[in-house]
Amino acid sequence: MATVAAPPIAKIRNYIDGQWQNPPAGEWLEVTNPATGEALARVPLSPASAVDQAVEAAAAAYPAWRRTPPENRIQPLFKLKELLEKNLHELAAMVTKENGKTLVEAEGELRRTIENVEVACGIPMMMQGYNLEDVASGIDEMMIRQPLGVVAAITPFNFPAMVPFWFLPYAIACGNTFILKPSERVPLAVARIFELLEEARVPRGVVNLVHGSKAAVDALLDHPKVRAISFVGSTPVARYVYARAGASGKRAQCQGGAKNHVIVLPDADMKMATQIITDSAFGCAGQRCLAVSVAVTVGDAQKTFADSICEAASALRVGNGLEKGIQMGPVISPESKKRVQSMIDQGHGEGAKVLVDGRGAKIEGGERGNFLTPTILDDLPPESRLADTEIFGPVLTLIHAPDLDRALAFLLRSSYGNQASLFTSSGAAARRFRYEAPAGNIGINIGVAAPMAYFPFSGWKDSFFGVEHGQGRDAVEFYTEKKVVIERWAAEHSRKF
Ligand code: NAD
Repeated sequence: MATVAAPPIAKIRNYIDGQWQNPPAGEWLEVTNPATGEALARVPLSPASAVDQAVEAAAAAYPAWRRTPPENRIQPLFKLKELLEKNLHELAAMVTKENGKTLVEAEGELRRTIENVEVACGIPMMMQGYNLEDVASGIDEMMIRQPLGVVAAITPFNFPAMVPFWFLPYAIACGNTFILKPSERVPLAVARIFELLEEARVPRGVVNLVHGSKAAVDALLDHPKVRAISFVGSTPVARYVYARAGASGKRAQCQGGAKNHVIVLPDADMKMATQIITDSAFGCAGQRCLAVSVAVTVGDAQKTFADSICEAASALRVGNGLEKGIQMGPVISPESKKRVQSMIDQGHGEGAKVLVDGRGAKIEGGERGNFLTPTILDDLPPESRLADTEIFGPVLTLIHAPDLDRALAFLLRSSYGNQASLFTSSGAAARRFRYEAPAGNIGINIGVAAPMAYFPFSGWKDSFFGVEHGQGRDAVEFYTEKKVVIERWAAEHSRKF
């Protein structure tokens, strides 16, 4: 029988100054499908010289782009929205292949991507300043917003398309030129989106894409022509990026990791709470920064909720996200799978009972994939190390409190503050929770409290370093500099005309 040669693996290229190109040097990394282990592509780990090229291209494009009227700057974004809608299914399949999340989850991600493009199209309104006549007799004062110049974003693996769009559309609509350094683990969908940006006729140099890892990030952080850095990823790297960007005088917004709590009160609608918390904890295989990781049950909710969540978690269909009916995909890499398994071991060692055990999952046809099934740990001692460690996998921990006061105390103790949720039918309890919960994104009977694009994607404590967040009005604040002008014109000159 004749053998057929396997097709060569595609090489992903950088997009700099309107040209698709290989970096001048550096290594290449294999990108694999986490559900099958199949090699999808090779991505360059670009050296500092490629970053330098991108920064010079962005700097050269800046003067003309900044002078382009905002109304004209948003025209390519309208076109991009149309192209993203048209290619949504193709892009979602790419996200599923490179990241592992299900097709339904990937389509949801693409919708959120598009939503950010739509909101940025409002820049001619959102970017306006304000003014006042006669701050003193015959003197007027105004605040105008101007773009910063060259700005950059560094993004994580878990939302390959959406997270870059918390930044890109706002940055360029405000008149900046932009460089993206996406996660080297998921470079495919974003590369395709850059083709769409090209098709939407974003002028050359206005958006640039440089693949890579630490060397490329460090080159952006140190480059004197980069004015601002947006980062999303784990807390240790967020802290590092914030410090290093600050050391070279850049403004920075750095979103970090999470350990999100949900409190379930006994008066909650248990059926609804179970369904929503199951999706929050195990959707995207627990690899959402807003995934619920700890459920604190209060009073009688302990028994009712534990029983129902164990049943729901055990019933989830785990497998290749491209297949119909699959509700949870694999985790991103074999290393991630190992890390999550060892954290479950650690929780067990620290005193937790393993009510549902996802270690050693056997998925038919998924032998080469990074599969775990949902895990539920019960009664993890609150003072254990795991209680405040981000797991970033499909593991939910249950802890118990006699009342809301003591349930809130668990949240106050956490070093993270990305999201906190409450399930209840009491308005008074909900108001108290909203008032006191120490987190930036709050859900009341909501499992994934992801802000819409016209609200800031908040985050507190070790989940965020900076002042202005991504999305909405915060994005406009971040990507513009305020200039205040005070004007006097001698009245007699106007009488000449
Ligand atoms: P990561 O921190 O490993 O990587 C994020 C980015 O930083 C990537 O582009 C990567 O190339 C780069 N990077 C990694 N190590 C670096 C280093 N030592 N020096 C410089 N750059 C480095 O994060 P990840 O594993 O891709 O993503 C998962 C993490 O992101 C989780 O902790 C999750 O909670 C967090 N996250 C947070 C939010 C949020 O809104 N707060 C959103 C999504 C993801």
